[in-house]
Amino acid sequence: MIISDLKIKKFRNIADMKIKPCESVNIIYGKNAQGKTNLLESIWLFSGQRPFRNCKDAEMIKFDESFFINEISFSSFGREQTAKYVVDKKKTVFLNEIRLDSIKELTENFPAVVFSPSHMSLIKDGPAERRRFLDSSLIQIKPGFSNILSKYNRNVQQRNLILKDYKAHPDVLGMLEIFEDNIAKIGAKIVFQRLVYTDYLAKSAREIYKGISSGAEGFNIMYNPSFEVEDIDEKSLEKSIRIALIKNRKEDILNCVTSVGPHRDDIEILLDGVSARRFGSQGQQRSCVLALKLGETAVLEKQTGEKPVILLDDVMSELDEKRQDYILHHLDNYQVFITCCDPTPLLKLKKGKAFFIENGTSEEKDVSSFG
Ligand code: ATP
Ligand code: MG
Repeated sequence: MIISDLKIKKFRNIADMKIKPCESVNIIYGKNAQGKTNLLESIWLFSGQRPFRNCKDAEMIKFDESFFINEISFSSFGREQTAKYVVDKKKTVFLNEIRLDSIKELTENFPAVVFSPSHMSLIKDGPAERRRFLDSSLIQIKPGFSNILSKYNRNVQQRNLILKDYKAHPDVLGMLEIFEDNIAKIGAKIVFQRLVYTDYLAKSAREIYKGISSGAEGFNIMYNPSFEVEDIDEKSLEKSIRIALIKNRKEDILNCVTSVGPHRDDIEILLDGVSARRFGSQGQQRSCVLALKLGETAVLEKQTGEKPVILLDDVMSELDEKRQDYILHHLDNYQVFITCCDPTPLLKLKKGKAFFIENGTSEEKDVSSFG
């Protein structure tokens, strides 16, 4: 996918900006707090997903204004497309001038991958972040996956309500069985898709990590279910979840929560067989998250047949020169937007465009005039 035109209006600290990116690397540089990340965020919204710095829609409207309007022209899946993203009191999104009922439709047309420092939470924080990572990748590959997830979560919430009610009304047991049945059936679909995806992702992320670290460390990820798994097919997974739910029922009634199922699973990120979270250095941890993100790019491309746009926010800090070089050269074939304060390391590329960002405005600079 290639973005050819971007217009940003009253978005964060950007009053009115127009840029025409190139098809390869676009360097977005400038001092702190000038609007570099805001620019990336405005692009990311067109992927139809939540802002990567989680926030409410209204918080992205420029202070003292009542709306923002961002417009983009891009080619993907063999055709020229446009999209418009408007937030005032509500959110309205257009794709090829047709108003969308759901922004999920953007996701199918606008494949994108983002890395921002907030994604270090993938390693540093608890399992919820890692599940969200897997699920949001799966949503991009399998549009129906989002509905399956919502359905699953509703059933877990229902079971939790019944667990709370159980002491006062033990006759609700029959209802509990209905929701457990749903959780097992839908949960098995989720776990199966996640396992298949993790397998794909592990293969490409391993390759990328090998490149980033020049083979210094062996990277791996493993899906860690919250229940005992016998076989990896949907029927067996369903059976395993059902058994685990029944086994944990007493304890779940006591705690009023559902303690097993895909909403409690995790992925382990390993370097040379040990937890990257507990033993990895800063640079190693950053390399792990990058390998996952770039691995995600490769899988997304294979599954959709379209190259995602890559958005990299402040990616180079904490990486030594060798690691930086690998990342830049690995991305040769993609349209990339990369933010930094000092663009010097990026200029070795000697191609692409550079945009100097100051106080929410952008000035295009000739890359060959640097360095
Ligand atoms: P850094 O190099 O520190 O990461 P940056 O150039 O990426 O800086 P941004 O995160 O893009 O900086 O933010 C630029 C400015 O936008 C900040 O000073 C922030 O206060 C401001 N800002 C954030 N939200 C809004 C808003 N809704 N309206 C106006 N300004 C905002
Ligand atoms: Mg920033």
